[in-house]
Amino acid sequence: MSNAVAIHPSVDNGIHAASGTFAGGTLACKCTTRPVKVHVACQSAHNHACGCTKCWKPAGALFAVVAVAPRDKVTVIENADKLKIVDASATIQRHACSECGVHMFGRIENAKHPFFGLDFIHTELSPEKGWSAPEFAAFVSSIIEAGADPANMGAVRARLKGLGLELYDCLSPALMDYIATHVAKQTGALKS
Ligand SMILES: [Zn+2]
Ligand SMILES: [Zn+2]
Repeated sequence: MSNAVAIHPSVDNGIHAASGTFAGGTLACKCTTRPVKVHVACQSAHNHACGCTKCWKPAGALFAVVAVAPRDKVTVIENADKLKIVDASATIQRHACSECGVHMFGRIENAKHPFFGLDFIHTELSPEKGWSAPEFAAFVSSIIEAGADPANMGAVRARLKGLGLELYDCLSPALMDYIATHVAKQTGALKS
């Protein structure tokens, strides 16, 4: 077997524990000039690895790492003019930097949605240490829809478990992989 599967740069060398006194920080996009900055005035919650195809992932990462914070604690403080909504029809409207593509926050505008009032954020974009640690991995099967090799899913799941992250799929993993492989072949993300 090869070395451990790379999941995401912020967890590949072990997961950092949260600081009990942590009170937030400032997220910055990857632009070297005029970066978009978003202040989050509280600790994050429900941090997790996400394998879906919608969450922003750094280059080469199999998973996104995404958390939530109350929307009234999330404020764009610099270069708001660079933000664009990736897909206005999506349940979560991801506000991304139009230059570097980094998602700065995801917001739900449907007041009836169970997650309304929570913004989705990527705490890796902040230089501050002490954010809540990833607790689980969601939509594990969906990485196949982005082109990950279905035959490697056993190794991916073993690595996530090794990091202490509980895995979540709808249905059994084998059935979710089956569905996602089908989708990936239809979209061309996977060559049959
Ligand atoms: Zn940017
Ligand atoms: Zn996601």
